[in-house]
Amino acid sequence: RDDLMLQFQITLYGDNERLVMVRDITRLHRLEQMRRDFVANVSHELRTPLTVLTGYLETYTEHADQLPPRWQRGLGQMQDQTRRMQNLVEDLLLLSRLETDHQTERSVPVAVPPLLGSVRDDAAALAGGGCRVRIETAESRDLLGVEAELRSAVSNLAFNAVRYTPEDSTITLRWRPWQDGAALEVEDDGDGIDPVHLPRLTERFYRVDKGRSAATGGTGLGLAIVKHVLLRHDARLEIESRPGEGALFRCVFPAARLIRRPLGETGSDT
Ligand code: ADP
Repeated sequence: RDDLMLQFQITLYGDNERLVMVRDITRLHRLEQMRRDFVANVSHELRTPLTVLTGYLETYTEHADQLPPRWQRGLGQMQDQTRRMQNLVEDLLLLSRLETDHQTERSVPVAVPPLLGSVRDDAAALAGGGCRVRIETAESRDLLGVEAELRSAVSNLAFNAVRYTPEDSTITLRWRPWQDGAALEVEDDGDGIDPVHLPRLTERFYRVDKGRSAATGGTGLGLAIVKHVLLRHDARLEIESRPGEGALFRCVFPAARLIRRPLGETGSDT
């Protein structure tokens, strides 16, 4: 059969004994594919009606002064909720693309400091003067990857740091040598996360505090997106956190993903 999927598990016993287990996961794989296609199709179909709604709401908002105050409030809420739906639809589409496409875009050397600089500006704008966002770069090599995907991963981590920390927090975006490779870190000194939640944090729609997450404007897909971007870059996500002491999200890249920039070139390709 074309779509036959087998899973092999080989266990070593002593010096020369092996136990080989073979599982037929074809049906599981097909179901997973159907789920992905369904989510991608629904999200795609929702895009157009949402664009129409946003268009009308914008027009009505321009003439909001002609409406009674109660209606004006309603209009504002409709805009907020439509924006939330749009963010959700875009994140669902991005996630299904990350799950299914096999690196359609080629990896290129990405200069990390300018990338962090632009994420810092976006995060500072989101914080509206609240948190302090700083950058530390101790690694000089470039990262071989797809820039848009890397940007989306770091932005999600940085925006979470802004959204889940008190106003006077400090957020650090860091690019540093780590083990044999390098790590991109986003650290905050906010409330942190109870370790019981850490193993499930990158699952879709897993939230520590549902009410608070919805209020912050998150879609519940941010860390799932980060995880999939890292998988596509042979990297892994480590999360360290203790309640009351902040959180550290570390994206660990292997040495094979790092490349030294030729002498004389500056990192201006981001
Ligand atoms: P959401 O849209 O809810 O932010 P994410 O997948 O990005 O979805 O994050 C999952 C959950 O992880 C969040 O709801 C939040 O409870 C927790 N979280 C993420 N980042 C942080 C952080 N820096 N500090 C505290 N909690 C965090």
